[in-house]
Amino acid sequence: MGKGGAVNGLDPREVAQLTGELARLKGEALAAVRRASGEMSVEDADLFRDSGLTGDGALAEAEFERDVAGAGQVRAALLAVVAAEKRLASGDYGLCEDCGEAIGFARLRAQPAASRCVRCQEVAEKRGGPAHFAG
Ligand SMILES: [Zn+2]
Repeated sequence: MGKGGAVNGLDPREVAQLTGELARLKGEALAAVRRASGEMSVEDADLFRDSGLTGDGALAEAEFERDVAGAGQVRAALLAVVAAEKRLASGDYGLCEDCGEAIGFARLRAQPAASRCVRCQEVAEKRGGPAHFAG
């Protein structure tokens, strides 16, 4: 947890920038998923976006996952962004999920949904873990 508004090595301005970038990526991912799935209605997408994955969003998430099953890569990208927003809300954003070290602004600016530092991401890829962009 950060002190004085700083979050995991990121200053408030950097957090604000990354938050905005995540929101933009989420919009793009939603549009891509919608194209890929071809079946999800605009209402479903709005429901998902508005509710996020908190509280009542669990139901929306279940419906959403059913709707986009098979959308594959774009679906993984969207879920990675949503997961990053959850970490942002919980105060874990910016920390590597494997080693717990700060991921760093430079990497997050290039990859706002990253959940691992560069070193752990390389290890994970060698292990043959999920290949989606956020690690
Ligand atoms: Zn790490």
